[in-house]
Amino acid sequence: MLGMKKSIFRRLILSYMFTIVLGIGIVGILMFYFGNNYIYSAKQEELLRQSRTVNSNIQDTRWINEEKQEILEFLNQTFGSQIWIFNEKGEIIATSTQDEVSIGKSVAVSIVEKTLQGENVVSRLKFEGLSEPMLSVVVPWGKQDNVYGGIVLHSPLRGLNDIVGKIRETILWATLFGILFSTAMVSYHSWTISRPLQKIDRATSRMAMGDFRERIEIKSEDEIGDLANTINMMAEKLEKIEVERHRLDNIRSDFLANISHELRTPLTTMQGFLEALQDGLIEDEGRKRYYDVMYDETIHMNRLVDDLLDLIKLENNEITLSKYHVDTKSILEKQKFKFEREAAEKGVALTLTLGESLPNAYTDPVRFEQIINNILKNAVKFTETGEISITAEKDGPFLLLVITDTGIGISEVDQEFIWERFYKVDRGRSKQNKGTGLGLAIVKKLVELHDGKITVQSQIGQGTTFKIWMPSEEKLK
Ligand code: ADP
Repeated sequence: MLGMKKSIFRRLILSYMFTIVLGIGIVGILMFYFGNNYIYSAKQEELLRQSRTVNSNIQDTRWINEEKQEILEFLNQTFGSQIWIFNEKGEIIATSTQDEVSIGKSVAVSIVEKTLQGENVVSRLKFEGLSEPMLSVVVPWGKQDNVYGGIVLHSPLRGLNDIVGKIRETILWATLFGILFSTAMVSYHSWTISRPLQKIDRATSRMAMGDFRERIEIKSEDEIGDLANTINMMAEKLEKIEVERHRLDNIRSDFLANISHELRTPLTTMQGFLEALQDGLIEDEGRKRYYDVMYDETIHMNRLVDDLLDLIKLENNEITLSKYHVDTKSILEKQKFKFEREAAEKGVALTLTLGESLPNAYTDPVRFEQIINNILKNAVKFTETGEISITAEKDGPFLLLVITDTGIGISEVDQEFIWERFYKVDRGRSKQNKGTGLGLAIVKKLVELHDGKITVQSQIGQGTTFKIWMPSEEKLK
């Protein structure tokens, strides 16, 4: 983390410094260039003006007598510029100071030629030993149509070094200030960037360890704020997935525990009975009862396994329905016939009422029967007196089946859970009734698979009503 902060800091400071040094460098070079130029051209103008004045004072003759020599000395003092006069051949014939060294020497031929043609010549000179550069101008000496030679004016460029020094000083201060300012700015920026990033880093590390409740509290509306929001949204989703995974894990282990429990119970019973039979303790008469119980247990286990397989297939969407136009009346009569005897044995009447112009059901007949069978089986199982009625009628595009019993009823709390697999209202009592707790879970899934609907209404001690809406052939029209 610290490394990241350092690297952001380093990168920012380098780019700031580079920009500042480059900017100030360019400005410095330009200032130097323009300043220099300005000074040179101002001085050049001044020297040209002075040399024209010199010329006007000495242009009447082509030799320098004493009087003119004095004028030259006077002008030298007035202008502060050294004056040389050279003749047509380029030989220096007079100087404003009694400078014997220069007299008799020659001026460069190119300069002489240009001067004799009436042109001005300007040159920048730097003499060894002189700290300031010199500027020389050469103008023709004489009259317009009669040039005798040239007038050279030398003058040191005073102030140039001062200006250069000033520029250098300004640039130095500006650079120093820029570096200080940029360091402060970069420190602030890298702090404002790295602080929220540290927060994000901490939170995501915790998320990486599986703690998805972690949220990042960054309210800024910049890119970092957006990043924090996105991570928070991701964490929210991951948290939901984690909760769902947990729930599914619980369901799966519950499911396995239930299956083993449901299978172990009949197996234990049979094991006990078999041991008793093996020991030869049971007499002939009792033996038949033992065999009967064991037979019942195998039937129960068989049903349990069948139901389980059905439910697993339904939950994995592995069951495909083969839908037909099914004669509702004949199916209901068949189911009624199936349970009639069992109900009668308990003294419970089983009635079937069919509405007028009853439509055919448009269902998978095997699954349709399974639905009615599971509901009726429960009704018979949980009803000791009274009656069980089945009515069928048309309800719009649906076929509505109402199966009502006058049995023990289901409490309001339990009504919510009866659709869940392995749910039995009173486990102790259900054991006697030998339920699997899977019947209604299968019914619900099958009805939904048919795009139908099922509801329950019940009151403890009063009885229970199941209403099932199944698609009829009307729905196809
Ligand atoms: P089971 O195989 O135990 O009947 P179901 O899923 O069919 O399993 O039913 C779940 C539970 O709902 C039953 O154990 C029972 O407690 C309750 N139940 C279902 N139908 C009725 C009913 N008609 N009257 C009273 N209780 C019922």
